[in-house]
Amino acid sequence: MGGIAGLTRPDLFIERMRIGGEWMAASGGGTVPVEDPATGETIGTVPAGDAADARAAIDAAAAAYGPWRRRTAGERAAILERWHDLILANVADLGRIMTAEQGKPTAEAEGEIRYAATFVKWFAEEGRRIGGYDVPAPTADRRVLALKEPVGVCAAITPWNFPAAMITRKCAPALAAGCTVVVKPSELTPFSAIALVELARQAGVPDGVLNIVTGLPADIGAELTASETVRKISFTGSTRVGALLMEQSAPTLKRLSFELGGNAPFIVFDDADLDMAVAGAMMSKFRNAGQTCVCANRILVQAGIHDRFVERLGAAVRALTVADGRRAGATIGPLINAAATAKVAGHLADALAKGASVAAAADFAHDETRFSRPVLLTGATTDMRLATEETFGPIAPVFRFEEEAEAIAIANATPFGLASYFYTDNLHRAWRVAEALDFGMVGLNTGTVAMEMAPFGGIKQSGLGREGGRAGIEEYLETKAFHWGGLKL
Ligand code: NAD
Repeated sequence: MGGIAGLTRPDLFIERMRIGGEWMAASGGGTVPVEDPATGETIGTVPAGDAADARAAIDAAAAAYGPWRRRTAGERAAILERWHDLILANVADLGRIMTAEQGKPTAEAEGEIRYAATFVKWFAEEGRRIGGYDVPAPTADRRVLALKEPVGVCAAITPWNFPAAMITRKCAPALAAGCTVVVKPSELTPFSAIALVELARQAGVPDGVLNIVTGLPADIGAELTASETVRKISFTGSTRVGALLMEQSAPTLKRLSFELGGNAPFIVFDDADLDMAVAGAMMSKFRNAGQTCVCANRILVQAGIHDRFVERLGAAVRALTVADGRRAGATIGPLINAAATAKVAGHLADALAKGASVAAAADFAHDETRFSRPVLLTGATTDMRLATEETFGPIAPVFRFEEEAEAIAIANATPFGLASYFYTDNLHRAWRVAEALDFGMVGLNTGTVAMEMAPFGGIKQSGLGREGGRAGIEEYLETKAFHWGGLKL
């Protein structure tokens, strides 16, 4: 068996990688199977690309760089806008491909495709606004300019949890800036990335400008990091692999952007709007079955609102529908693989052994190696694994606190610093807490902090650099100081 049911554009399901102008098999001939996480069936295979294939892709990107860089910003933007339109014209098929390889429910998959498209549009526009500045010169016969230039050949290494948005969030600003790219998608979800590359080709992205190499992560990663041609690596994934890529990139001193793991606190103060807080917690915690880097990992609730919040959140958790993402009404799909469900089960068992209680759970009759039951826990404490590690699953642990200072101390007691959230109606507290939270992103009275127009990223062990917003394109630009002397005026 294989393939993806119901595609109206079967040509978007491609079991090849793209290097230069060719759809290729791996030079070594091997393939890697891709599984449907809901059923375990193989939906297809991708080439087992290795270091030689990565080298070929780097060479293709280097050859395409000069001509692409010399296009006008407006020409590049027009191609990106066509890419954006093609993505939106194929939302249903791209969503089917994503649900088949990643598991998220159809509505969420289609939502991610639309979200992915927003980055293409945004960076097409930002590309038109790239500009340096002039600097006051020290003498009358000199001029000094700060020029903005593309970084060069870039590599994008992406995770499985957002198989489309992480591709466009990196590739769109890179292409808009005039860089060329080698993409290495997650081996678990390569087909969404390949389909996006095919749509970019149809939109007019020239051969070699956007290459994709599937296959063996360690071999491809070693080649991308060692290469002197690759000037920048943008990586989204685990802190462990980020640290490894940094070490491997040290000899060539590459520019690095890292979006890594998180451990987001979600704080509900006594004066919070209960409806908003419950809706925000559901969105932040249970989207993508809890497999998001910005998901609420620790829900801290003040004593005065604790019981009412738990009751309301419990009702919402019981209303979740765990099912194959293709089933109508499914709100929680499978987790990505058996290692993920085992980790979540381990966190749950550890919490229960250390005194947490189950306050609510969704109906569940599924294979526990593929799906995890959504659970609301009370009595969570900071010595539990789910407090110190990213759970990446549908377990919502509630920690009770008394004072604001105590909540801040608990929230900041993590080496991660990606997203944080808090709910209050007190404007003095709003400012105080926003300043005290040691995170790259703070949501006040909202459970979402990711959007194309805002800078997205973390501090501490959650990463380096920012994606999205105005900052997102700067990551792909160098500033060249141009000193012009001896002017005869
Ligand atoms: P991962 O680190 O295992 O894999 C990410 C990517 O790195 C994949 O493409 C993988 O093939 C590749 N990779 C693995 N080993 C490599 C190596 N030795 N050399 C080069 N590449 C290698 O992460 P994952 O499990 O795919 O993703 C989940 C993690 O990503 C979570 O920790 C999550 O928080 C994080 N994440 C962060 C953000 C963010 O924006 N901060 C967004 C999504 C996910």
